[in-house]
Amino acid sequence: MKTNLKEFSADELVHFIEALGEKPYRAKQVIGWIYRKLTFSIDEMTDLSKEAREKLKKISFISSPALIGINKSKDGTVKFLFELEDGERIESVLIPNIHGEGKYTICVSSQAGCTLKCLFCRTGAHGFRRNLKSYEIVDQAVFLGKYLKESLVSGSEPADITNIVLMGMGEPLNNFAEVNKALWKFTSVMNYSKRRITLSTAGIVPKIYELGKYGPGVNLAVSLNATTDEIRSRIMPINRKFPIKELLQACREYPLAPRRRITFEYVLIGGVNDSNEDALRLVRLLKGIRAKVNLIPCNPSNDKALAKPSGNRVHRFQEILLNGKLSVSIRKSKGSDISAACGQLKAEYENKPQ
Ligand code: SAH
Repeated sequence: MKTNLKEFSADELVHFIEALGEKPYRAKQVIGWIYRKLTFSIDEMTDLSKEAREKLKKISFISSPALIGINKSKDGTVKFLFELEDGERIESVLIPNIHGEGKYTICVSSQAGCTLKCLFCRTGAHGFRRNLKSYEIVDQAVFLGKYLKESLVSGSEPADITNIVLMGMGEPLNNFAEVNKALWKFTSVMNYSKRRITLSTAGIVPKIYELGKYGPGVNLAVSLNATTDEIRSRIMPINRKFPIKELLQACREYPLAPRRRITFEYVLIGGVNDSNEDALRLVRLLKGIRAKVNLIPCNPSNDKALAKPSGNRVHRFQEILLNGKLSVSIRKSKGSDISAACGQLKAEYENKPQ
């Protein structure tokens, strides 16, 4: 069986190349081709000798996810549906930055499906398939980077990925080992700044500590979504295992770089977690934490009748948080016309033959 070159860390690739009788600096060239020039083919590595390329090709390959669907939103958001080697399907989203022409944020998946079953999220509703390998996470960024580089989006100016968010399908901290490898690859091989990478978690407390200890120091986003254990457990069953108090303690101890804050995502669901009392409680809960709050009016989900709060309610909620000296933004969900908005990544599973 051939080895996937993307499974290697930079050091491992050096060993692999040396074992082939090639000089170690060749590994750097290979890394450049795969992660910066974004090639999927060993044949394109023209600064390697033909002989070296043939040797490599005999025993290795470069994985590439199979793109089976692409969906462009009116607002410039593009959703990609990939099929993995074993037929599992995942989605990634390319989102134009609000500021900066030609600059994009990508939202990548960490699992095929999810075990968590949050009430408002579509991924969980379809169950868990499997964890992604680190290269399957990295591949999403490589593929979307290549897509942009070739200017397939605008057909004009070359475009760039500036930010990576692990907020797609799955719970990244339930796949910590592979996710962490991918994070290190983003920062140390692909040269993305750790400040421009955000991992979003539903709150797997022990793994937040591990991320702080072993991760490359990426930003942390926590999907809080409620202010009492009763409501949070109802909409996010994982809260029964890791209640709010323990979750916030882990946040307090997360090693934050100077001037950085933890993002608390709060999906506002009409009549469930959007009262004035909730807003006041949220202010109290986040006291003493370097926090910013991202309010996300609930996106429609076919399966459950969860109400989007009224615009007034959202603004009142925001006002109370601002009065409590919290930094708050309201997330305008992009790509909702193509089901690429928060929590909507899943639809294609329904059509998947079993
Ligand atoms: N498991 C991780 C990452 C995936 S969810 C986590 O929980 O953070 C990414 C974000 O989408 C979370 O903040 C989640 O609260 C939000 N989300 C999920 N379903 C949503 C919906 N229907 N409407 C709005 N936001 C949603």
